[in-house]
Amino acid sequence: MKHLIPYLQDDQKAADYLRQVRWPDGVTCPRCGSDAVAPRERCDNGLQRFNCVPCAGRLGQQFAIFTDWTSSIFEESKLRPLDWLLVMGLWQLKLNATEIAAAADIQERTAQRCINLLDGGIYETYHLAPTRQLEHQVEADECYQSAGSKGLAREVARHDRAPRQRGIQLRGRATAEMGRPPLLGLVQRRDKTDPDAPAAQVYLEVLENVRTTTIKPIIAAKVKSGALFFTDAYNIYHFTKADYDHRTVNHGAGEYARRDPDGTWVHCNTMEGIWASLRNFLDRFKGISQRFLHLRVARYEFLHNYGHLPWRQTFEAALRCIFSTTGEYWRRMTHQHRRMPLTLCYR
Ligand SMILES: [Zn+2]
Repeated sequence: MKHLIPYLQDDQKAADYLRQVRWPDGVTCPRCGSDAVAPRERCDNGLQRFNCVPCAGRLGQQFAIFTDWTSSIFEESKLRPLDWLLVMGLWQLKLNATEIAAAADIQERTAQRCINLLDGGIYETYHLAPTRQLEHQVEADECYQSAGSKGLAREVARHDRAPRQRGIQLRGRATAEMGRPPLLGLVQRRDKTDPDAPAAQVYLEVLENVRTTTIKPIIAAKVKSGALFFTDAYNIYHFTKADYDHRTVNHGAGEYARRDPDGTWVHCNTMEGIWASLRNFLDRFKGISQRFLHLRVARYEFLHNYGHLPWRQTFEAALRCIFSTTGEYWRRMTHQHRRMPLTLCYR
């Protein structure tokens, strides 16, 4: 976080830094995209005002004013640029709302709203990005996260990942409705032969249930066909034989890793490691609600996938994602008071 110190002196410096990240090649009008803009006096909270000349001409007005935050997630926020910059830094440290409120000296409700906006922005832009695909060697696995409308699911958490009963039908399997939404995890193994390869890239989706009909469109959208695809012997993955080189380990028979004759290691250990670290992260949000689970999971996904980069690069990549949306997802979600159905995301 050290690189933020010079920008955390006052609101103007914080606003200038955020503007530089939003428009690295110079300010353009958020309405028409023109760069024929002229700076005007600043707002009281330090944000810079600009006048867009083409927009003013089109509207027949003397000025068409926008600010650093027009058409961004921050537009309707009353929080000052300095506080936002600090909250963003704390957000990247994977803190919860209570910790952010204490560290940034803001109200806990405000901190809660901030992290929902930031996580929502990452979910909408990074998580749902249609072009992000996994390839080469991909492991898939599912796990169950206790999350309810109230925070009393601690007990069940202890029974997570009970040994799978082979051959028994899905009846006992947890669903979102039962308060334990399943998560589907897909991870592209890190290429160990390339020292510059990025971290293992992961894609995590909160599901209603783990039926084949639910996971099939997600896997088809996220994993390039032809990839080596590793799962355990659970029958919901059988369909992947058609598009992938599907290999399974039989956990039920005590097999956890195997070396195939072609030299390929067949296991799901990368994904198992990510589940452990995700659970560690989610434990910070005590009594997590189902309504917000997918937002926290999206933050974890983003920070994990950028984890190999220096702190500042990750920070600015997150900011660029967040500036590329207006917060539309979060506004719609707030009105619906529930998670958006997955069907909206995989049209
Ligand atoms: Zn304009």
